[in-house]
Amino acid sequence: MNSEALEESNLTNSTSSAQATGFERRAVIDLSAIRNNVKQISDVVAPAAVMAVVKADAYGHGAIQVAKAALEGGARWIGCAHVTEALALREAGIDAPMLAWLHTEDTPFEAAIDAGLDLGVSGWELERVAAAARAVQTPARIHIKVDTGLGRNGSTMEALPDLLNRASDFQEEGLLRAVGIFSHLAVADEPERPETDEQLAVFNTAIELIEAAGFDLEVRHIANTPGILSRPDSHYEMVRLGLGLYGLSPFEEDTPQSFGLRPAMTVKTRVANVKKVRPGQGVSYGLNYKTEGETYLGLIPMGYADGLPRIATGAPVTVNGRTYPVRGRIAMDQCVIDLGADINPEDFLGAEAIIFGDGGQSVNTWAYAANTINYEVVTRISPRVPRYYIEGSWGEAGE
Ligand SMILES: *Cc1c(COP(=O)(O)O)cnc(C)c1O
Repeated sequence: MNSEALEESNLTNSTSSAQATGFERRAVIDLSAIRNNVKQISDVVAPAAVMAVVKADAYGHGAIQVAKAALEGGARWIGCAHVTEALALREAGIDAPMLAWLHTEDTPFEAAIDAGLDLGVSGWELERVAAAARAVQTPARIHIKVDTGLGRNGSTMEALPDLLNRASDFQEEGLLRAVGIFSHLAVADEPERPETDEQLAVFNTAIELIEAAGFDLEVRHIANTPGILSRPDSHYEMVRLGLGLYGLSPFEEDTPQSFGLRPAMTVKTRVANVKKVRPGQGVSYGLNYKTEGETYLGLIPMGYADGLPRIATGAPVTVNGRTYPVRGRIAMDQCVIDLGADINPEDFLGAEAIIFGDGGQSVNTWAYAANTINYEVVTRISPRVPRYYIEGSWGEAGE
């Protein structure tokens, strides 16, 4: 375990020490799961390299800690959407090859080149990157991004020859080197759909074009997690691993465990109040839930300000080894579970309440309740929920 993670975690693996230090809300991140997941995927894609995608604060897991763990686990590259995300990692001392691919007019290209970042280029950025390279007197390393069907960023195939011509001129001037070509898949999470074949065919055509233009490529990359797991023909020299790095599955039908992946994030808190109420007690704003009989309500001190989706009424919270659906509306700071009449309230007040993860239900149950995907649920866990870093399963050491 690296020392920074230790400092931030300020606790050990044991439940008892968690009790001793106390906590209100936390997202526990298991860095050994991150390393495991990189190793599993490396085995699948070898000899291709793994780029660990840590954009959006590593999908809510903490970019610096995850990037370090991923590199320890065997990732050779780090991927970010924004240059500013990548610069923060450089400042944290991470010197691995790093690519950022989503830019605006305000992107600090000069700082990026100074920091040795590789830059994705879809079109207009080329001139800006070349100008920045001239200003800092260092050639930029670029990866040409091609839109093979997703319809977002990337050069269309129609615009690609012109982009390659312009890049070739800048390369001759010594202002840049095109070291990579890449694209992004649209439907690889639905392996039965035909569009992935079509995208790979377009990508291969783009590769022929760029090679014919005389560029000497280090890496060709198109696979995201679903591509990695379902399309060996999409691996090329590198894959860009996001969701799988965090131990989650992009497929509805397949669990992470079926790929040897371990979910890294557990979100938990403690039951903040337990009280007996009468039959017919309305619960939370709107009073949409009414208790059937006399019962105990448990108050969970997390809500949409913590990143729990407001619409996820019915999502499971696990307390004392049992799962209770959220009843009534999820509010900004809190939500409510119905514990039934047959409990000892003293067992529940202050008990650990697991929103999802180790000891509780999977993040997918929350995604399902919120009509969204697991990517969004973990990524939106808010800064009000402190991240704690552990090695190994939560509670292992305490048992
Ligand atoms: C986010 C992202 C990825 C990672 O995708 P996952 O499905 O999470 O593996 C890869 N490539 C690009 C360009 C991305 O934006």
